[in-house]
Amino acid sequence: DDPADLVPRSPVVTVMGHVDHGKTSLLDAIRKTHVTTQEAGGITQHIGAYQVVNQGRKIVFLDTPGHEAFTAMRARGAQVTDIAILVVAADDGVMPQTIEAINHAKSAKVPIIVAVNKMDREGANPDRVKQQLSDHGLVPEDWGGDTIMVPVSAHKKTGITELLEMIGLIAEMQELKANPNRSAQGTIVEAQLDKGRGPVATVLIQNGTLQIGDSIIAGTAYGKVRAMVNDRGEKVKKAGPSTPVEVLGLADVPAAGDVLLAVDEKTARAVAEKRIAKKRTEEMAHSQKVSLDDLFKQIQEGNIKDLNIVVKADVQGSIEALRQALLNLNNNKEVRVNIVHAGVGAINESDVMLSSAANALIIGFNVRPDANARKLAETEKIDIRTYRVIYEAINDVEAAMTGMLA
Ligand code: GDP
Ligand code: MG
Repeated sequence: DDPADLVPRSPVVTVMGHVDHGKTSLLDAIRKTHVTTQEAGGITQHIGAYQVVNQGRKIVFLDTPGHEAFTAMRARGAQVTDIAILVVAADDGVMPQTIEAINHAKSAKVPIIVAVNKMDREGANPDRVKQQLSDHGLVPEDWGGDTIMVPVSAHKKTGITELLEMIGLIAEMQELKANPNRSAQGTIVEAQLDKGRGPVATVLIQNGTLQIGDSIIAGTAYGKVRAMVNDRGEKVKKAGPSTPVEVLGLADVPAAGDVLLAVDEKTARAVAEKRIAKKRTEEMAHSQKVSLDDLFKQIQEGNIKDLNIVVKADVQGSIEALRQALLNLNNNKEVRVNIVHAGVGAINESDVMLSSAANALIIGFNVRPDANARKLAETEKIDIRTYRVIYEAINDVEAAMTGMLA
C-alpha cells in the first residue's frame, strides 16, 4: 500500500485469563455500557465480535474469550489481535491459565493490559496481584514498570471507561493503519453452516473494503458476497478496516483463522481448487513441524533457527533445572533453544495449541499429555517427548541438534 492511502483504523482486542476470573462478565459489561445503538426490538445479533465507542474512538472486541481460540487462529497464520486484555481476579490472583495467557500474548508479540477484576469482592488484593504479575515479567507502571493495570469490577461496572481509555492510549501509540480503498483482506473469526442461509462466516476485515458482490476466497472455501450483517444485526453493503461482519455467500464453511481475500472470480475458484488438492497431499505427506527426529535435517536446510520448546513438569524445581540445562545448550550452536512456555502440570490442549502456533516441541518431565492434548498433538503433528530423567531429556535435545540422535 502507498503510505498516502493509509488511514487510522480501530484496535482489535482479545480478552484472556484464567477460567472464572470474569472474561465473559467483562465483555458483557463493556458491551452494556458502551454499545451506543439500541437494537430495534432489543434483539441482539451475536456475531462473535463487536465494536464499542469510547470518546468518539471505536474499539473492536473479539467475543471468543480465551487464549486457546486466540492461539488456534494464530496457528493458522492469522494475527488478528492488536491488544490483549489479561483478566485477573483480584481475590484469586495469578493462576496457571493466567501464566499461559501471558506467554501466548508474548509469543504473538501483542501488548498486554491487565484488568484486575472483582475489585468489589471482600478478599480483593490488587497489590498481591501486582506482585505476582511482576514475578512473571509484567511490572505495573506505578512500580516503575510499563504494564498498565486497571482495577475493574465487571459486576459493579466500575473501571470500564478507564480500561477503554487505556486501550485507546496503547492503540494510539501503535499507530494502526489500513487502506480502505483496496480489495478486502480479513480473517475468519468463526464460521458455521446455517440451515436456512448456508455457510455463514464472521469476518474481521483488516484491510481494504468488502462489498456486496465481491468474489472471495477463505481457506478452501470460495464464493460471492450475497449479504453482510454488522454486529448490531443491521444489513450493510460494505465493511471497511477493523470492522467485524457476518458474510453470506461462501459455498463452503471456512475455518477460524483462515485468511479471507477479495479476488476476481476465476482466481478465487482456481486458488480454492489448488488448496483443496494441496491439503489432500499434505495430509498424506510428512509434517513440516519441528521434531527431534528430523531436527538436524531441518537445521541444515535452514528451516529452523530457534528450537522452540514448551516445558511441562511435575514440580517447579524440575522446570528450573530443565530450563537451565536446555539454555546451557546454546553455547556455540547454530540453533538457539528458546523456552516458549514452562509450567507445572500435565501437558494440556493449550500447550499443544501454543506449540503449533510457535512451531515448538513439548518436553514433559514426570508428566504426560492428557487425552485431549494427545489427540490434538496427533492432528497438529506436535512432537511430545516425556522423560523421567533430566539428563536424558537434555541428551536427546543435544543429540538432535548435532544430528547424533540414536
Ligand atoms: P470467565 O470464565 O473468565 O468467562 O468468567 P465469568 O465471566 O463467567 O465469571 C465467573 C464468575 O465470576 C461468575 O460467577 C461471575 O458472576 C463472577 N464475576 C465476574 N466478574 C465479577 C466481578 O467483577 N465481581 C464479582 N463479585 N464477581 C464477578
Ligand atoms: Mg467465559
